[in-house]
Amino acid sequence: MAYIEPAPIKDKENPLESMMERFNIAAEKLGLSDEVYNVLKNPAKQVIVSLPITMDNGKIQVFEGIRVIHSNILGPAKGGIRFAPDVHIDEVRALAAWMTWKCAVVDIPYGGGKGGVRCNPREMSKGEIERLMRAYTLAMIDVFGPDKDIPAPDMGTGPKEMAWLMDEYSKAHGMTVNSVVTGKPLVLGGSLGRTEATGRGVMVSALAAMQKLKINPFQATCAVQGFGNVGSWAARLLEERGLKIVAISDISGAYHNKHGINIVEAIEYRESNNGTLEGFEGAELMDDPMDLLLLDVDVLVPAAVEDVITSHNVDKIKAKLIVEGANGPTSAKADAVINEKGIMAVPDILANAGGVTVSYFEWVQNRLGYKWTADRVNRRSDRIMKDAFDHVYSASKKYDVPMRIAAYIVAIEKVAMTYTYRGGY
Ligand code: NAD
Repeated sequence: MAYIEPAPIKDKENPLESMMERFNIAAEKLGLSDEVYNVLKNPAKQVIVSLPITMDNGKIQVFEGIRVIHSNILGPAKGGIRFAPDVHIDEVRALAAWMTWKCAVVDIPYGGGKGGVRCNPREMSKGEIERLMRAYTLAMIDVFGPDKDIPAPDMGTGPKEMAWLMDEYSKAHGMTVNSVVTGKPLVLGGSLGRTEATGRGVMVSALAAMQKLKINPFQATCAVQGFGNVGSWAARLLEERGLKIVAISDISGAYHNKHGINIVEAIEYRESNNGTLEGFEGAELMDDPMDLLLLDVDVLVPAAVEDVITSHNVDKIKAKLIVEGANGPTSAKADAVINEKGIMAVPDILANAGGVTVSYFEWVQNRLGYKWTADRVNRRSDRIMKDAFDHVYSASKKYDVPMRIAAYIVAIEKVAMTYTYRGGY
């Protein structure tokens, strides 16, 4: 079997390449036929458009817009739109595949997609960004759709951009269609509970794993790398469930307090301090922020950026459990050492899927024309996350593989089986 797509392969520790390495191992374990392998390797649809935009200085600038639907076997494609200067079709293709596996592992009825526009939103005015978002939407009017492809925010985009997308799509269809996109402002049909959803899923995954490892949350310590949306919510919810959070970090540095950090205070401090922990006095600043990953804790939550646990530091990791809040924090080369050391790693496609789960709930609510309470959203997403964890754990026992490979096995098996039932030409 020679699975080579999607392939933004630049170096050995590339997180997308790491994802493909794990995919390959899982496909081998499953004994996937070459035919199905080939179906899964090719993205279902790839669209590239040119978007001429009149900039504030009156000049016309042409931007490249991309949308890739990797798979629509389980249902409409789901995936974010990123606005970034280095957006490239290879990367978008791989990220779309990643979404296919993430949706499949938590058993929500979506395929995988991803989109991007090559631009630098930091150097653009609000008006320029709005015109670009609207032009991109119109160019993709036949690609997007509540039953075809449902975008969401990603790097460089947020609720504002999703509101413009919804408005442009709705205008073109002569009616309000809020289920075409998720991550919208609440007033436009966004879901309660979305902000904390990913951190909450990390918490549910961590507790489920601790139960298997027989770690008592009330006697457990935890370090969290990254104190943005995912990291700070995960830290807060884990603290509420009894864990002692002894270290947190953000781009300003890592902060350590062996007696435990008061996470609510840390969040309040960040809010009053331009969004950063710089100068936080509830803990000591560590000399090297990367040393947070090497602390002697029970639970480690990397929730910042990709590729932080690599062949260079994995042998020094002391945590018993790693729960991946970020996408791709562990390189494929580090996997073997993690397994040798007997560390359980709950992989990103499972641990951080709480976000896409509540995005799915947003779509469900929009289609129902109804709004759920935050409590209902939380209960349902907790159940989906716990069921997904149990399913992956069982697969890890059945196939005698680590949780990461088991998650890919669960995802690939689901997509492959659905494809086989649906059939081809
Ligand atoms: P965010 O921008 O809100 O927060 C990122 C945090 O990481 C910030 O505190 C930042 O200061 C910190 N950070 C950046 N570089 C760092 C470094 N080198 N060391 C330590 N801290 C660093 O982003 P987020 O939404 O919390 O996303 C974090 C990760 O989770 C990303 O990998 C993202 O792709 C992934 N993720 C997010 C969601 C979601 O719903 N937000 C869903 C799935 C996956």
